[in-house]
Amino acid sequence: MASTQFDRAADYLDLDQSVRERCKWPKRLITVTVPVQRDNGDTEVFFGYRVQHHLSRGPVKGGLRFHPNVSIGEVAALAMWMNWKCALMGLPYGGGKGGIACDPRSMSTRELENMTRRFTTEMLPFIGPETDVMAPDMGTNAQTMAWITDVYSTHAGHLVPSIVTGKPVELLGSEGRTQATGHGVAFTISRAFYKLGIEDTKATAIIQGFGNVGAHAAYTLARYGVTITGISDITGAIWNPKGIDINQLTEHVAKTHGVKDFPGADAIDPEEMLTQPCDALVPAALEQVIHADNAGKLQCRVLAEAANGPTTPEADTILEERGDIFLIPDVLCNAGGVTVSYFEWVQNLQHYQWSEQEVLSKLETMLEKAFENVMHFAETNQMSHRVAALALGVHEVAKVKATRGLFP
Ligand code: GLU
Repeated sequence: MASTQFDRAADYLDLDQSVRERCKWPKRLITVTVPVQRDNGDTEVFFGYRVQHHLSRGPVKGGLRFHPNVSIGEVAALAMWMNWKCALMGLPYGGGKGGIACDPRSMSTRELENMTRRFTTEMLPFIGPETDVMAPDMGTNAQTMAWITDVYSTHAGHLVPSIVTGKPVELLGSEGRTQATGHGVAFTISRAFYKLGIEDTKATAIIQGFGNVGAHAAYTLARYGVTITGISDITGAIWNPKGIDINQLTEHVAKTHGVKDFPGADAIDPEEMLTQPCDALVPAALEQVIHADNAGKLQCRVLAEAANGPTTPEADTILEERGDIFLIPDVLCNAGGVTVSYFEWVQNLQHYQWSEQEVLSKLETMLEKAFENVMHFAETNQMSHRVAALALGVHEVAKVKATRGLFP
């Protein structure tokens, strides 16, 4: 999927053959075994991956994912998308991604800590604040980043906060980082509504996923006055045309670990929820959930890709032919996370902390600029928002590769 999307953007840009080949392939793919002693005394070996797509514009940046579906191919695709996302946002980074194939929901905190510490140890020769800076992704959080910081700093002999982003604030994480991705998603949706003449306070949204990204997108949309009619997660989907109270839902999820059986809404089939009428549909979970079988049935005005890669190329073709859905492509829609990661890294390198207000207002300025660039490029070149966003990102990387030249 990532390669097909790259080819579409590269065809449009008519990239020089040498630059095109060098942009397409990842620089390094690292695979490690991660032995962990389980709580029952058995030793289990997990497989961990890190893909560093390119280092031409600065260190590699991207999340670390703990999920049963993690594979080297998935990690490579996600690393490639991080390239174009960072370049589109003007961040001085190449793309990276890592992951461990595991089911974090079935592991104790001790097991997760040991797995993270061992993975970091295996990664020591390959990471550093100027080489590769990890961050949270699916199944990982600020605590995971704290353990990575501890291992790296212990080896360095002093605290190195710039080794990862998305750390707890007390360990020199940035204010605003936890909510940054969801905040950015809601901000770009509101910009799209504005372009379409839809008022936030009269709009509805459906959100797939109530993890860090989905939940913070829901909070911020609700704060803008948007009515959230449907939400789903791994436990099921809930529906209330009058609006779901996000604070009450958060309390319910804290107690029951899922949205299922929330008293303030009815149950709905999670697949059916996606095709209900709404102003914004927000896939905020896994990849490839908008596919050839449901793309024709969507009844949203805006498709806001909070997840990475939620729409297959076949579905993209259907959406382009339909022409009635305003797409906010993933590399723009969820770029709030990596942008505030960049702010965190900058603060760490300067030994200085910004306020939450400063972080979020700088984030909105950068998102607004990228949003307008994508809209303008798509309109002038008569292309989809996806191809425009990717082409802008690919172009930045291609320019640097061409200028730096091929070594030796
Ligand atoms: N995992 C997030 C993403 O996919 C954030 C990456 C980062 O902050 O480096 O964009």
